[in-house]
Amino acid sequence: MIPVTKPFTPPIQEYQELLSGIWQRNWLTNNGPLVNDLELRLKRFLGIPHLLLVTNGTIGIQIALKALGITGKVITTPFSYVATTSSVVWEGCVPVFADIDPDTLNIDPGKIEDLIDRDTQAILATHCFGNPCAVEAIENIASKHNLKVIYDAAHCFGTLYNGNTVFTLGDVSVTSFHATKLFHTVEGGALFTQDPALLKRMAYMRNFGHDGPERFSGVGINGKNSEFHAAMGIVNLRYIRQILDARKGISDQYDALLENLRIRKPRIEPGTTYNHAYYPVLFESEAVALKMKAALEEKEVFSRRYFYPSLSSLDYTNGTATPVSDDVASRILCLPMYHDLSTEEQELISRILLRTQKYA
Ligand SMILES: *Cc1c(COP(=O)(O)O)cnc(C)c1O
Repeated sequence: MIPVTKPFTPPIQEYQELLSGIWQRNWLTNNGPLVNDLELRLKRFLGIPHLLLVTNGTIGIQIALKALGITGKVITTPFSYVATTSSVVWEGCVPVFADIDPDTLNIDPGKIEDLIDRDTQAILATHCFGNPCAVEAIENIASKHNLKVIYDAAHCFGTLYNGNTVFTLGDVSVTSFHATKLFHTVEGGALFTQDPALLKRMAYMRNFGHDGPERFSGVGINGKNSEFHAAMGIVNLRYIRQILDARKGISDQYDALLENLRIRKPRIEPGTTYNHAYYPVLFESEAVALKMKAALEEKEVFSRRYFYPSLSSLDYTNGTATPVSDDVASRILCLPMYHDLSTEEQELISRILLRTQKYA
């Protein structure tokens, strides 16, 4: 069986060593030493001064919206994981979908301005599959119309744009450290901002608003993460170079093996050092994509329609027409992609796809 993704698990002894420390200190959660240590190591790895570890990426997006005081309309992408849209609705805001660029699969900045009205407060865009959005264009629109920018950077660990992490972009960036992501803490995520006042507000919000044991600074939620999750992150971070290199090799290998397959891949924004978080391919039609998916499944190989359906079809949104996103969602598949996918497995996958194309 070849799954579409597989979490990285480090050598168990390394994790157990950190667990012994947790047992000795009997400090399990609430901003413990391992959480602090992981935050420090992540800042060093990413080359940034600030970051807040949180429970998961979804809570991160919700804290970002809350901390920025967003209560009205949020222009967002229909082509993302459901958490991007559901967080907006959960916070009592209204998602307004701007269709995507058919080449990059990211929000099309040319579609944003027409949607702005007096209730619009923010743009929430996903760097889809770890490929940065048209960030300069988005920044220009946001400053012209006085909008906040939040990036859902859940796919972006290890992606660089003009040599720097994309996590510093926007008013707030949010990433996920879920088990299926390239770097993970089992469950987890992080918030990033360059604004010290906003950072402070989000830090309070993450911990119920506590400002000392008996004082509170505003309304908060439980957005903390535990020592056990931090321990997994600390150990996994030791292997991050290996993970990134392995994924690049696997991606190059797919490129070579699938040269004669009639597919299109998203165009990566110039200036990007890509993290190869996913291997998405677009087939000519939904019928072909479904035939390919079924042919793979017959041999116990699992691809995923990611993202499907387009988020503009969710029944709790107002159903803006997003024809490009609908079309892309109907015929995209993410092929298996994880650190130890073998060459033999990739050859099997490509044989199945090429054979299916021949007899399609
Ligand atoms: C995984 C993911 C999320 C949610 O992150 P969690 O840590 O699972 O809550 C949000 N947006 C995108 C694009 C994701 O892929």
